[in-house]
Amino acid sequence: MNKEQGMYSTWVTIDLDAIKNNVRYILDRSKVQVMAIVKANAYGHGAVPVAQAALEAGATWCGVARVGEALELRQAGLDCPILILGYTPEARYKEMIEHRVSMTVWNTKQAETISTAASQTGQGAKLHLKVDTGMSRLGVDPDNAIDLLETVSHLPGLQAEGLFTHFARADEVDPTPTISQEKLFRALMERLNAKGIEIPLIHAANSAASLTRSSAYFNCVRLGIAMYGLHPSPECPLPPDFRSALTWKSVLSQVKRLPPGRGISYGHEYITTKEEHIGTIPVGYADGFRRVPGNQVLLGERKVPVVGRVTMDQVMVQLDAVPDAKEGDEVVLLGTQGENSITTEEIAERWGTINYEVTSGIAHRVPRIFL
Ligand SMILES: *Cc1c(COP(=O)(O)O)cnc(C)c1O
Repeated sequence: MNKEQGMYSTWVTIDLDAIKNNVRYILDRSKVQVMAIVKANAYGHGAVPVAQAALEAGATWCGVARVGEALELRQAGLDCPILILGYTPEARYKEMIEHRVSMTVWNTKQAETISTAASQTGQGAKLHLKVDTGMSRLGVDPDNAIDLLETVSHLPGLQAEGLFTHFARADEVDPTPTISQEKLFRALMERLNAKGIEIPLIHAANSAASLTRSSAYFNCVRLGIAMYGLHPSPECPLPPDFRSALTWKSVLSQVKRLPPGRGISYGHEYITTKEEHIGTIPVGYADGFRRVPGNQVLLGERKVPVVGRVTMDQVMVQLDAVPDAKEGDEVVLLGTQGENSITTEEIAERWGTINYEVTSGIAHRVPRIFL
């Protein structure tokens, strides 16, 4: 029995050595800077300890999605360069400049407003230009990127620190769409070179491209899902050297023997057909354990089915496969127990989603324990 058991109803353990191992793998192979993508509480893994582990392993940047995520890292004492990859509300520009957080821009109005904020704080602002080469999410059209860069370079208090783009289909077998995005990005870089414009940090690759497209490394890769030891997609699996970091556990709170004909949970969608052992586990949809049929968990190293509806804080399981199960036994919702495992990808399939959404959906109330 580990020490977390007995302390919590449900909890997550994070193997920080796995994070370090995965960062080192990409650093060793790519030989460029690694930006550790720790948005969304490090995909549910815990932003500050993951960022610290990634930096210890040699990552030089942290990438986040929100102002609050950048502040969380700064407040924990992290001094590394941080980039907000997406939108920063205007009202937060000054605060971000004061905290030396780099911001992403895609239009001249942003650049002008940030320049004003920079002059008010008396500090320079570092900007990364986002170019839309085909994701159609965020970024300046490549044809307008030079104008934007020239605006940035003429406005006081602004430094064009980075130029980047994002791939829409790097996790697929067919490289054609990624090749065409990379081509547009390179063509823009050539036009910049011709104008003598130099930008220190050029980045395009997400995890999938970091594993498969060395031509897209430039001088930095943005490492997200692979850092956590999770596959970018079924078509873009990780090499075996990667290790997954997250295990999600709970405990059996009650075990009971019910007669045939008993309805289980709200709506009685499951009804016992014989005398059955039914267990209760204190994890529910408010923890991020989805309210869908077909869930399974590991108990006594066997997969057992969740029966009846998932409730906010609890689920029931059918214990026929583990007749010796008793109150207080460890339950693994995601991870390995003895010889058996439930992978993030397996849960994603069951939930009709991707592994990214499974771990980033583990609720804040679930404690994270760092190993
Ligand atoms: C989330 C994100 C990444 C990381 O993507 P992975 O597929 O998890 O490696 C990289 N770049 C941007 C702009 C992102 O939003």
